[in-house]
Amino acid sequence: MTLKERDKKHIWHPLTQHKLHPEAIAITKAKDCVLYDEDGNEYIDAIASWYTCMYGHCNEYITSKVAKQMQQLDQVVFSGFTHEPAVKLSEELIKILPDNQNKIFFSDNGSTSVEIGIKMALQYHSNKGNKRNVLIAFEDGFHGDTFGAMSVSGLSVYNGPFEEFFITVERIPTPNGKNHQEILNRLKEITNTQKVAGFVYEPLVQGAAAMKMHDSDGLEAILSYCKNNSIITIADEVMTGFGKTGTYFASDQISIKPDVICMSKALTGGLLPMAITSCTQAIYEAFYSDDIGKGLFHAHTYSANPIACTSALASVELLQSENIQNNIKKIIASHKTFGDRIKEHPKVKSIRQTGVIFALDLNIEMERYGNLRDKLLNFFMDNGVFLRPLGQTIYIQAPYTIIQKQLNKVYDVIEKVLNII
Ligand SMILES: *Cc1c(COP(=O)(O)O)cnc(C)c1O
Repeated sequence: MTLKERDKKHIWHPLTQHKLHPEAIAITKAKDCVLYDEDGNEYIDAIASWYTCMYGHCNEYITSKVAKQMQQLDQVVFSGFTHEPAVKLSEELIKILPDNQNKIFFSDNGSTSVEIGIKMALQYHSNKGNKRNVLIAFEDGFHGDTFGAMSVSGLSVYNGPFEEFFITVERIPTPNGKNHQEILNRLKEITNTQKVAGFVYEPLVQGAAAMKMHDSDGLEAILSYCKNNSIITIADEVMTGFGKTGTYFASDQISIKPDVICMSKALTGGLLPMAITSCTQAIYEAFYSDDIGKGLFHAHTYSANPIACTSALASVELLQSENIQNNIKKIIASHKTFGDRIKEHPKVKSIRQTGVIFALDLNIEMERYGNLRDKLLNFFMDNGVFLRPLGQTIYIQAPYTIIQKQLNKVYDVIEKVLNII
């Protein structure tokens, strides 16, 4: 039996309606930017396996560091113990995070990093003797699939059956350069009637909303309003973190820095699951007390797993290397040239780019295409490129190590699709 067939027997895949999508592609190997399946096909991983493997699959620098660490210390309880990989990672991250960040809290996936950010905001106010029970978030944000993270996510397709169990969240539109005043009015309306603990947002690019990009001045105005009203700002950089937007973090491009930052996805370069919630000294101090109950009582068994920390350390080192920084510049320029080439195409409604994240919206009537996403995805896979369109948006977020020849192939299949749909 093939892997594909064996898979069907016991496996329940994430984000999958098995009746509509009974088959998974069985990947047997990955190297640099290429995935290999059990039938001998090759695919360029143009979305870096959900934006994780940014230094290429099975990166030798990362795997060699991890292989060494595995012989030294595999796992230890992180309450009451510490270890070199976690300490060193905290030191290195603080160097590249926005200046106001000073504490690092470990967990193991993006959703929990947001969950922890939400708890920090709620308990911050509670510890200060001023309970606040409402959060603010963007209408179309995505922050993960645990309950707190789902509550702040605005994309209801994922969350419908659970909505009645959510934390109270008030929604504001994303800034588009024209709706500044409307958003500020809405914020005033919310804060006049409710006690707002925090604002959770994806800075500059909203991944699951189909790489929607927003106006940084508008975001700055929102953050400024939050600061003036003691609303804890929580930047969900799970997708945007570690170089994607052209700077280490999207928050680097906005002068008002968040109180809390959530990271995961590219943190370990795709080798191991890990997440971090960083925060300012002021947040930390609201929990620092003789009263044990004022501590942040949140833990995951694998918090700060030494091997995952080692993988993250190697990744953070690579991110800062001249080689990767040059590649990022090259990809940004290459996407721009591609965008200029296709933006007038009749099937292209619009293009947008922030850093290495490139997206185009198709100018087509969705109804005519039935399940457009499947058709596009199958076409791309048949042509040796893994792209995963969202609605009528095709986006690229390839590993930083992708070479021009591979990028050209990605562009070619996109152009081909434009000419046949
Ligand atoms: C992927 C993602 C999450 C959730 O991370 P998981 O590791 O899948 O739980 C949260 N926020 C953003 C912005 C994401 O892109």
